[in-house]
Amino acid sequence: MSVNVEAYHSIQQEFVKQSVTLVAVSKLKPASDIEDLYKEGQRDFGENYVQELVDKQAVLPSTINWHFIGHLQSNKVKYIAPFVHLIHGVDSLKLLQEINKQALKNNRVIDCLLQVHIAKEETKFGMDAPELSAALEASKQLPNVNIKGLMGMASFSDNQELVANEFKYLHELFTTHQFDKQPASILSMGMSADYPLAIAAGSNMVRIGSLLFGARVVKH
Ligand SMILES: *Cc1c(COP(=O)(O)O)cnc(C)c1O
Repeated sequence: MSVNVEAYHSIQQEFVKQSVTLVAVSKLKPASDIEDLYKEGQRDFGENYVQELVDKQAVLPSTINWHFIGHLQSNKVKYIAPFVHLIHGVDSLKLLQEINKQALKNNRVIDCLLQVHIAKEETKFGMDAPELSAALEASKQLPNVNIKGLMGMASFSDNQELVANEFKYLHELFTTHQFDKQPASILSMGMSADYPLAIAAGSNMVRIGSLLFGARVVKH
């Protein structure tokens, strides 16, 4: 079995104490790995690729909460709109509008997080602070999306101070912006390598892959 059940229970215990939700990131891992963690009690799983998510959702228990955490293209929203639990990586108003449209078609309100660009790397996705404010304002006209909070990815770096400061910045945006539909409730930040810093900075949802499922073979 490639799933690290021991690591799962120790992380999960730690998170419960701190009221942090664990999203188990299962991208590029087989459905059988998800089943193994499901049997241990895990219900929130995160995926990065639309086709892979659709394929897994079709064969796995309907009680799983599916988190889409990758970069989402507008033309693919329709495939996950019927069932997705939370979309983390909403990085443009155009994407938010498309989610609203597909949610309406499915007679749903879809929970979303706006992704903010906090890392030094140009390659990472996300809005800057002015774009975030504009998207929040525009979202008032979009009744079928519910913006629950923010998501961000820190720099891939050994510099703990840099990473901690990026998380602190995102936390500050989280606490200072007005989320109009209801008080902001989710701050999704932290992964296998940096989650203690993220939690120290106020994260309440952490996305962990390799610590649970082992290293991934890189796609592309
Ligand atoms: C892959 C991925 C993760 C999990 O990364 P690990 O380092 O394996 O924990 C978390 N968040 C996002 C957005 C990812 O793409």
